[in-house]
Amino acid sequence: MMAHIRIAAARVLLAGSLLLATHAVAGAPRTVLPDTVEPERYRIDIAPDATALTFSGSVEIDIRVRESVDRIVLNAADLTIDRAAIAGMLESVPVRYDERLQRITLSLGRSIGPGPYTLRLNYHGRIYRRASGLFALDYQAVGSGSARALFTQFENADARRFVPCWDEPARKATFELAATIPAGQMAVSNMPIVGSEALPDRRQRVRFAPTPRMSSYLLFFAAGDFERRSRTVDGVEVGAVVKRGDLAQADFALDAAAEVLHYFNEYFGIPYALPKLDLIAGPGSSGSFGAMENWGAIFLFEADMLVDPRIASERDRQQVYVATAHEMAHQWFGDLVTMRWWDDLWLNEGFASWMENKVTDHFHPDWHMWLQSLDDRQRAMDLDARRGTHPIVTPVIDAQEADADFDEIAYEKGAAVVRTLESYLGEDAFRDGVRRYMRERAYGSAVTDDLWRAMDRGSQRPIAQIAHDLTRQAGVPMIIERAAECRGGETVLQLSQGRFVVDAGPTAAQIWHLPVSVATLGNVPATGVVAGAAAVPLHAAGCTPAILNFGQTAYFRSRYQPAGLAALTDRFGELSTSDQLGLLHDTQSLAYVGQVPMGALLSLVSAVPADAAPEVVTTLSRLLQHLDQLSDGLPVQVRLRAFSRSVLHRFFSRLGWDSAADEASNVALARAGVIEALAQMQDPDIAADARQRFAQYVSDPDRLDANLRHLTLDAVAAHADPVTWRQMHELARSARSELERHELYSLLATVDDPALVRKALALTLSGEPPATSVQNIVQTAARRHPRQAFEFATANWPQLKESIEPDFRVRFAPMLLHTATDPTLIRPLEAFAHANIPASARRDVDKAESSLRYRSHVRRERLPEVERWLLALGADPS
Ligand SMILES: [Zn+2]
Repeated sequence: MMAHIRIAAARVLLAGSLLLATHAVAGAPRTVLPDTVEPERYRIDIAPDATALTFSGSVEIDIRVRESVDRIVLNAADLTIDRAAIAGMLESVPVRYDERLQRITLSLGRSIGPGPYTLRLNYHGRIYRRASGLFALDYQAVGSGSARALFTQFENADARRFVPCWDEPARKATFELAATIPAGQMAVSNMPIVGSEALPDRRQRVRFAPTPRMSSYLLFFAAGDFERRSRTVDGVEVGAVVKRGDLAQADFALDAAAEVLHYFNEYFGIPYALPKLDLIAGPGSSGSFGAMENWGAIFLFEADMLVDPRIASERDRQQVYVATAHEMAHQWFGDLVTMRWWDDLWLNEGFASWMENKVTDHFHPDWHMWLQSLDDRQRAMDLDARRGTHPIVTPVIDAQEADADFDEIAYEKGAAVVRTLESYLGEDAFRDGVRRYMRERAYGSAVTDDLWRAMDRGSQRPIAQIAHDLTRQAGVPMIIERAAECRGGETVLQLSQGRFVVDAGPTAAQIWHLPVSVATLGNVPATGVVAGAAAVPLHAAGCTPAILNFGQTAYFRSRYQPAGLAALTDRFGELSTSDQLGLLHDTQSLAYVGQVPMGALLSLVSAVPADAAPEVVTTLSRLLQHLDQLSDGLPVQVRLRAFSRSVLHRFFSRLGWDSAADEASNVALARAGVIEALAQMQDPDIAADARQRFAQYVSDPDRLDANLRHLTLDAVAAHADPVTWRQMHELARSARSELERHELYSLLATVDDPALVRKALALTLSGEPPATSVQNIVQTAARRHPRQAFEFATANWPQLKESIEPDFRVRFAPMLLHTATDPTLIRPLEAFAHANIPASARRDVDKAESSLRYRSHVRRERLPEVERWLLALGADPS
């Protein structure tokens, strides 16, 4: 899946009342369905009633009984079984429900022996208004009022809301789907349509070809007033499916899919396995995910698939490309070869998150995806250094625990670790290992070690040790420069390995074997493996300042001697862009915890040259925004803002509002970053410009450059007065497309004015905004007003939670506090968790508390140093 933050739930299954199937995974028990019965083939026939939000279904499941059983246990949630039978044997089998464990038990009344059988179940279920199971998305159709389309979303454990099944990733089977839908609508599933027949009362029954063996969470179905466009790539029909009228906006994603498919066919060494691959756009959004890799039928919310030239910025275009690439990587990593159980989910997500950068970088080198990915690495490290972190490979016992593991650790740290290993092994050797793994595991399942074994076979450079250290231990490793000495034209560095910790326990030292690359400025790098606290010498040619983690390809923090950091600061402009970014990130994090003076961070900020690369400008803008948030309401904020604005104006004076015809793609991202930061800091010039552009926009929306549109709306919305807010509300109500409608409703919640935020939050209970934008509105409000959003969400939880996917509910409220700095919020968070979040699913509560304490600590303990440094600088706060 494509995160926002993708979470998932693996439901605990108690097999029968007494049978408890457990497998030791890293010492932890795992509760799964009994393996006495295996599903082999599902024939599913469903008939949705989109108006009534219900559906009826029937399924025939060919099963193989391995040893005698007198009951059959499988998953079902929110389904009512109308009739259960075993073909040719038992006409009516009693069904027992376990709602908590989301299973049904068919009691056979006698023992049946090993062999093949066919289950027949007739059932009915619900169509939801949020993105789980079979769900409805409503939208304003061009010229014909309100319309409704149906889609499915099953990862991790929601296929059981659609069909009774063995809803575990390793229980692969083939699926043959048929659906009865209104005549004139289009139905889409994983496989092509093989037939359709007209039925009375203006309906039709559509049948799809059987899938290959696959996991239940990858099954997909959609139906609506769609249009489709396709082309053939390497013998595969690549298609885009959109609601009527949107085809032209899908061309960008379709072009991306076409070139990416060919690249992956080559890279993986196994051609894409299905006859067709559709990208399907759904209007709306989810709080927890943006896209899903259903095999042959990738679902993307419109923001991740459609490029509307009137409103799409450079950032939007890049996002669509990356989201498409991510989900397509899953067609191999995840769909063809699937993690055996959810504790190896990172195999899917870490790999796809790495591959999205690799393939995008191949086709769009000017987007500099590897540079951009360093911000993702920083986010992962930020979490990984705090309480609530966990190893990449982490035992998943039950549903609630799994929810919280689908986070920056699985995605961003996973991707950074894959990059570490690829850089160490070399691109070709790494790819050969991936190909071996694909060949050996195709249509089957794997655990993480299967990948390392495939890599190490035939390789001169074993990676298993490095890989185990990085995937089985939580935490951020750190390389520490103990000494650097110039001798005979080379620099001898003494390096040791430690751990970068904010508050994550235990603080006991951990050993990581880390591939370390070191270079002095302008010279070739030296490499070695460093592990443990004892200093290891590394010899680098030349005597200019030395940079650790040269090229920033590895997952660790670098801590320099004060003299080393000062020397790098002095010659910042001579570092490569990636090393500039690495140094900014490391210095920021080390300064926040007091391992480096805050003054050193601000000196580094001051040393960034006006002509810095756009990626550096983007990162620096975020860094200054972050400091501004932390200082919110404190006396130091005035002086800090004056400093930050003067830094940002150095870039703004080069960038301006308007793009130059020949500028590099990422300049648009830098411009957006600088303007966003200046707007947050209430820069009067930016505010005046934004208001003027907004006035133009209101009078003629097409006059504003698409790259500036969202930026302008965001800057104006942030500081809106009641009149402006009402204007924006009117724009949301009369939005010209679903994409704009969702964007504009969210913007209503970015406002600074607490009274207006209250109005935006109240809208979520009014039924006025689209149902699936409710989560986004509350999440957006939380960025500037975490307390208000949290109090609103918890006070209205019974109603609000209906809009939130069940898997995501344990995470939603704690995540609202991610920008909070007030530790008095901890008590209400704990009270809410106590009443609403099972004890085993409180990892996000831990994370939120740790984040609160951390931010409050930086505010209290570290910002006074900022104030002293600024006073010494004589920065004029005016
Ligand atoms: Zn994914």
